[in-house]
Amino acid sequence: MKIALTFDIERDIPHFSDTYFGLKFGLLKILDLLDDFNIKATFFCTGNVVEHHPEYIRLIKSKKHEISCHGLNHERLNHLDFKKCQDLIYRNKKLIEKSCGLPEIIGFRAPYLKPPKFLFKILDNLGFKYDSSIVSPKKLKYYKHNKVQIQEFHPLNSNFFFRFPLSYPIFRKWISKKDLVILYFHPWEAINMKKVLLNQKGALNIFKNFIFRPDRWLNTGNKFIRRFNNFLRDAVLKKIDFVTLNQLIL
Ligand SMILES: [Zn+2]
Repeated sequence: MKIALTFDIERDIPHFSDTYFGLKFGLLKILDLLDDFNIKATFFCTGNVVEHHPEYIRLIKSKKHEISCHGLNHERLNHLDFKKCQDLIYRNKKLIEKSCGLPEIIGFRAPYLKPPKFLFKILDNLGFKYDSSIVSPKKLKYYKHNKVQIQEFHPLNSNFFFRFPLSYPIFRKWISKKDLVILYFHPWEAINMKKVLLNQKGALNIFKNFIFRPDRWLNTGNKFIRRFNNFLRDAVLKKIDFVTLNQLIL
């Protein structure tokens, strides 16, 4: 069995917040844990993080993790036309490659896991080799085009199931039956998001994030770090292979 750990490197809650507490305080905890277990992971980065905090992307790169693209400013790409969408992904790719001195980024994940139907054509045009945006394998047929060779790595939208107490045993049992699992997390899960969300401006924001989206705060912070640590320790003991997505392509 293989596990690919993937992280979306973006603002704390794109669309609602402009803060980077997850990057400032959560990312280091995650990178330390990965170092402790000698695991390499894949980090999908937005262009605006590179513009505002290139030091974090360079830190990820210095630890030999894989860097991939996650949109210029976390736009909802399925609402855009082909030209606009291609332009944003092109700028995202070039910005990260240039500022981090990377030869060529080959992986992409659509923000909100909402890819447009023509995504694979754009990725092929821009030299990408794989995508990791389509959760359901059944939906892959809507994105495939003739002569376009883009490998799909279906992400398991696991952040909530990983943290929700009643789901965690089911989550572990379910993934143990798979040959390859792509897990998907964010740096903000490693900080106490309850505090961040309650400090937001606007009662409506707080209401939306808090009441309707427990996935945005439940068991974040130290509880997440403890569970993540235990999960990695058990997996390493079971000799599960951790891979980056570009290793699966190469
Ligand atoms: Zn994202």
